[in-house]
Amino acid sequence: MADDKIPTEQWAQVVEETGGPVVYKKIPVQKPGPDEVLVNVKYSGVCHTDLHAMMGDWPLATKKPLVGGHEGAGVVVACGSMVNNLKVGDYAGIKWLNGSCLNCPYCENADEPLCQGALLSGYTVDGTFQQYAIAKAAHVAHIPRNCDLEAVAPILCAGITVYKGLKESGARPGQMVAIVGAGGGLGSCAVQYAKAMGLHVIAIDGGDEKGELCKRIGAAVYVDFLKSKDLVADVKSNTPDGLGPHAVLLLAVQEKPFQQASEYVRSRGSVVCIGLPAGAYLRAPVFDTVVRMISIKGSYVGNRVDTAEALDFYARGLIKVPYKSIGLSKLQDVYTLMRENKIVGRYVVDTSK
Ligand code: NAD
Ligand code: ZN
Repeated sequence: MADDKIPTEQWAQVVEETGGPVVYKKIPVQKPGPDEVLVNVKYSGVCHTDLHAMMGDWPLATKKPLVGGHEGAGVVVACGSMVNNLKVGDYAGIKWLNGSCLNCPYCENADEPLCQGALLSGYTVDGTFQQYAIAKAAHVAHIPRNCDLEAVAPILCAGITVYKGLKESGARPGQMVAIVGAGGGLGSCAVQYAKAMGLHVIAIDGGDEKGELCKRIGAAVYVDFLKSKDLVADVKSNTPDGLGPHAVLLLAVQEKPFQQASEYVRSRGSVVCIGLPAGAYLRAPVFDTVVRMISIKGSYVGNRVDTAEALDFYARGLIKVPYKSIGLSKLQDVYTLMRENKIVGRYVVDTSK
């Protein structure tokens, strides 16, 4: 897009005060700095993190006023003077990690999400719930040209995060992984990445609709936490030898499942914490953790290689995120459904509506 075609104003959803609601209004289009690109965001997935940001759930301050969003798929329309890895017209993805210093010990070791200077899209810098968003060129995801920009959007956070979490779990092909929150945005990606990685999936969530989805996208078993009288026993009895899954991916936005996981994970198994319920704590019996050699760890988004690999799984047709489309102007309605755990899969907003 020639510079004179880039508008000076655009539609955006703005969090003006903690607790919301988001305000749909026109705001100026920013100009990219020397190491940045401007992306015409066509579609953006809505992650539960965006709701946490609006509600001020976490012990980390957000920018204010804030444009949320970090699953933005679109087209590069302007490049800063130092950018040589992207050009105008390329498909590009703006993800949670908007930028990092690239020089600290974490960045040097490809642990860019741990960089103390990390910029976070839709949290410490404006994100993708606007028509034109900025990101550091080094961190922009390269979306293959054959991808549908709407369908690929959820890969940019949900996909990358669960793919990384599965790698961190150490689970190997043929083993079993429990996915907790399997019917949500991250969960429905996790079921498919796990299957593509040769793992058997025990999906855990609540309600029949989420159960049907989990089975349809490849879960071997569905355990409904709303119906189960003894979740720990139900999870273990659904593994062939009754010893429990080799790994657990915790994606739910509730504290209770974080307390339960160490009870049903197999000895020498791993519990990977990814969901970020407000004010929650982990609790596990020290005795069991020691004598059953259980690993409990956190996993946080992914680096640039994880991003490229997660997109490659998608481009090979192995991941089909179940999503519903809605206009950007209706973002608050998505948050209302999300708070009530009523979203099956992901919502993707269209920034033109
Ligand atoms: P979501 O709302 O789409 O999904 C959460 C799912 O958990 C829902 O389907 C809900 O029904 C289910 N659930 C609720 N209570 C449950 C229980 N007791 N047992 C099993 N399932 C239960 O949310 P999302 O967008 O998938 O995000 C999930 C969490 O992951 C959020 O806290 C988000 O902030 C966090 N997140 C973390 C990272 C990271 O890097 N660690 C990245 C992205 C998102
Ligand atoms: Zn996210």
